[in-house]
Amino acid sequence: MVRVGVFGAGGRMGTAVCQAVRDDPELELAAAVDPFHAGIDLRQVNGVDQHLQVAAGPEALLEAGVEVAVDFTDVAAARENVAWLASEGIHAVVGTTGFSDDDLASFRAAFTRSNCVIAPNFAIGAVLMIRFAEMAAPYFDTAEIIELHHDQKIDAPSGTAMATAARMGAASDTWGADPTTSVVVEGARGGSGPGGIPIHSVRLRGMVAHQEVLLGTTGQTLTIRHDAFDRSSFMPGVLLAVKRVANRPGLTLGLDALLDL
Ligand code: NAP
Repeated sequence: MVRVGVFGAGGRMGTAVCQAVRDDPELELAAAVDPFHAGIDLRQVNGVDQHLQVAAGPEALLEAGVEVAVDFTDVAAARENVAWLASEGIHAVVGTTGFSDDDLASFRAAFTRSNCVIAPNFAIGAVLMIRFAEMAAPYFDTAEIIELHHDQKIDAPSGTAMATAARMGAASDTWGADPTTSVVVEGARGGSGPGGIPIHSVRLRGMVAHQEVLLGTTGQTLTIRHDAFDRSSFMPGVLLAVKRVANRPGLTLGLDALLDL
C-alpha cells in the first residue's frame, strides 16, 4: 500500500483524486490538505467516504507518513507545495498548470531525494492523441487542429492544442502552403499555431474537452479525435503516476515516459 496525500482536497480535481485513491486497493488516502477547509471531516468537504480531518498545511503529510503527494491547486500554492515536498523527500505528482520555465528548472534542481511527475494533461487518451499526431505528421502534407471546449473556458487555444501543434511541427516542417488569398470573415482559417499549423477553437455549451487532429495528403485523410467527458478521464493517468513516480528519478514532464511512448 502506498500512502498518498492530496493537496487541494476540497477542489474539483482534488475531490476526484481523493475518490480515485480511496477506491484503489494498492493506495491508501493518508492525508488531505486544503487550508480553506482545515479541521473539517473529508466527508463533509468533498463527500469522499473516509474519516480524515482536512489539514491546514503540509506538515500533516509528515505525521501521516505520506510517500506520494498529489497537487491540483493553483500555481502559487503548488509552487510552495512542490518545493516543500522536494525538501522533505516526498514524491510529488502534480497536475496544477501554469508553471514557468524557471519554476521547472528549480524543481529539477530540488528533487534530489525524491521524484516528481508534472503533467499538464493526465488524460491518457489525450497523451496518445498527441503522440499519434506526432507519428503521423511526416507522412502528411497538410494538418489542422480543431479543439472544442465548454463555454466557460476563458483561454484559447487550449494548452493541449498548442502542445499538439508543437510536437507535430517538430516532427515535420514540410507542410503545404495555405491556399487562402481572400478571407471574408476574419479568423475563418483559425489561428496559426506552432509549426504554422492552423488551430480552430470551438466554445460550445454542453461540451467538456475534445480535440480533432486532421491530416491530409493525396487521396486520403486521417482524423485523430479525443473526447474527455468528465474529470474521471484524468484519474487513470494520475493513479499511474502515483504508482510509478518512485521509479522515475528526478523530474519527469508529461505522461509519455510513464506510458513508454
Ligand atoms: P479548484 O476546484 O479551484 O481546486 C483547487 C483547490 O486547491 C481549492 O480547493 C483551493 O482552495 C485549494 N488550495 C488553494 N491553495 C492551497 C494550498 N496552499 N494547499 C492546499 N490546497 C490549496 O481547481 P481545479 O479545477 O481542481 O483545478 C486545479 C488545478 O488543476 C488547475 O491548475 C487546473 O488547471 C489543473 N488541472 C490539471 C489537469 C491535468 O490533467 N493536469 C486537469 C484538470 C485541471 P480554495 O478553493 O478555498 O481556494
